[in-house]
Amino acid sequence: MIKLLTVFCHRKNFRDKMLHKIINLTVRDVRFPTSLDQHGSDAMHTDPDYSAAYVVLDTDSGLTGFGLTFTLGKGTEIVVCAVEALARLVVGKCLQEIVSDFRGFYRLLTSDSQMRWLGPEKGVIHLATAAVLNAVWDLWARTEGKPLWKLLVDMEPKQLVSCIDFRYITDVLTEEEALDLLVKAQEGKQHREDQMQKEGYPAYTTSCAWLGYPDEQLKQLCTDALKSGWTRFKVKVGADLEDDVRRCRIIRQMIGPDNTLMIDANQRWDVAEAISWVSKLAEFRPLWIEEPTSPDDILGHAAISKALAPLGIGVATGEQCQNRVMFKQFLQASALQFVQIDSCRLGSVNENLAVLLMAHKFNVPVCPHAGGVGLCELVQHLILFDYICVSADLRNRMCEYVDHLHEHFTCPVVIQDAHYMPPKDPGYSCEMLESTVQRHQYPEGNVWKNMKK
Ligand SMILES: [Mg+2]
Repeated sequence: MIKLLTVFCHRKNFRDKMLHKIINLTVRDVRFPTSLDQHGSDAMHTDPDYSAAYVVLDTDSGLTGFGLTFTLGKGTEIVVCAVEALARLVVGKCLQEIVSDFRGFYRLLTSDSQMRWLGPEKGVIHLATAAVLNAVWDLWARTEGKPLWKLLVDMEPKQLVSCIDFRYITDVLTEEEALDLLVKAQEGKQHREDQMQKEGYPAYTTSCAWLGYPDEQLKQLCTDALKSGWTRFKVKVGADLEDDVRRCRIIRQMIGPDNTLMIDANQRWDVAEAISWVSKLAEFRPLWIEEPTSPDDILGHAAISKALAPLGIGVATGEQCQNRVMFKQFLQASALQFVQIDSCRLGSVNENLAVLLMAHKFNVPVCPHAGGVGLCELVQHLILFDYICVSADLRNRMCEYVDHLHEHFTCPVVIQDAHYMPPKDPGYSCEMLESTVQRHQYPEGNVWKNMKK
């Protein structure tokens, strides 16, 4: 027995001392034909095939990191190309070398003197950065034997801020202020962690009311969701006002006056149109209008926020907000009342940490964007960390949930009574089943081989 224990300890020490040198990066184009059943359909994205550029990092220690970024089908091959262009900055590096200067590594990926012309920190190259960094964070959490949220929760405030690139945001948040916010939020941390383990993080569902669903399907899904304990519902709007009035009426009648309703236009309107359209839906008392106009129009969002405030309707946005600099300006301009971080749009955990801290400073609730493929699996870690170590607040806060494609992951999300239960497995929860990856790989996987797309 003692001998066995000695061997185990020796192996553990050996593993802990390993540097986990990244020896290979592979990236694959994985697509799911969700458009066939109108899943994910909204006013602007009428036929999305939920897809991912899926990254695997192999190390010399035998441990593997998995990461992804989310796309809607066509064009995923461009993101794959961008990931391949970043690979030379990653392969050959040791994990310990990366995480001991994570800010430096983030800058290495986002500030390459030639490739930054493709962004900087926006568009395809930033999606690729997210996929690579998500895999690095997954690898780090696995080497520590912890789920990512727990890795973050156990990190010292100093180490957390050392992962953030404060360039371009110091007029709103300096490293010292960020440290101060994190240190202050240490109080009560253990209690909140215990609470999350017991209750989970509150969620809302978008699965009932995609734009392409007929009314009967909408009613059935709503009935099922109410039975499963859901109390917060989001409806897609923006294609046709009469349809929106009818659909919102159906949902409000079904969920009753006390449950929460949100509406999402996915960037459909100009500013004046957004104000007049949403005013006509005010009788259904939506908590927020999501993405009313172009995701880049900060002052437009500010004007919409101001006009809708007397109706008690807030503005939510963020799933296509390019980077922390944009979020900074949205917050400075009071252009949103709900911050919707996304685990694959921003530069992974590093950049999301900056946004969580800025939102906290401005006292604006964070309600993450999720759904697609893998976004729920990823972002649950970030919002758990936010509650335990940053916001310490659940008022007006909830994380999006969409009930598609979870079966393709090795550690799918666990929802209990409309709450995300904290993941227990080491990593960032975005490893897909290898059989799924092979079947759904585009265009050669069996799912796609015989389909005309
Ligand atoms: Mg949305």
